[in-house]
Amino acid sequence: MTNTDTSDFDDGERERVSVPDRIEFPRLLDFYELQTEDQTKIHKFYDNLRDGQLTTTQCRDCDEMHFPPRIVCPECTSDDLEYMDLPHEGELFAFSEVRGGLPLGLREHDVPYVVAVVDLGPVKLSGRVDDASYGDLEIGDSVSLKIVEINGPTDEERVFYRFEPTDGDS
Ligand SMILES: [Zn+2]
Repeated sequence: MTNTDTSDFDDGERERVSVPDRIEFPRLLDFYELQTEDQTKIHKFYDNLRDGQLTTTQCRDCDEMHFPPRIVCPECTSDDLEYMDLPHEGELFAFSEVRGGLPLGLREHDVPYVVAVVDLGPVKLSGRVDDASYGDLEIGDSVSLKIVEINGPTDEERVFYRFEPTDGDS
């Protein structure tokens, strides 16, 4: 018997397998953290953001400021942290453009889009930059905070931060 002898398999019905015609949005592809007090210990960050203020934690013992907010200081391991307001304007420290490769379930998102590291002064943080394409931007451009509300896949009211070019900046 050789590998090409298929006579044993010619007759009879083949088993049929199926794939779903609709794919649920997998929880793992929801990149936004759940934001309530019983879901995350940095819920205050989201509460503040929902109220329109970008904040992060600063250590009362060593004065180190961190982003993202922490529950324990990564410098001195103190848990005596307080939330501080961050500036809502910053400068592009670095940026790139996402052109493809989004996982299944995220294809409705509008590629290409710009992601950047923004220097706010006290901290640098990464975020998406809306209303600009890669060719429009230069290192050092000023950008402003933009807060977006997130639809689905939970019923919770969630928010997240993005940036956009500061008005009047070309
Ligand atoms: Zn500290």
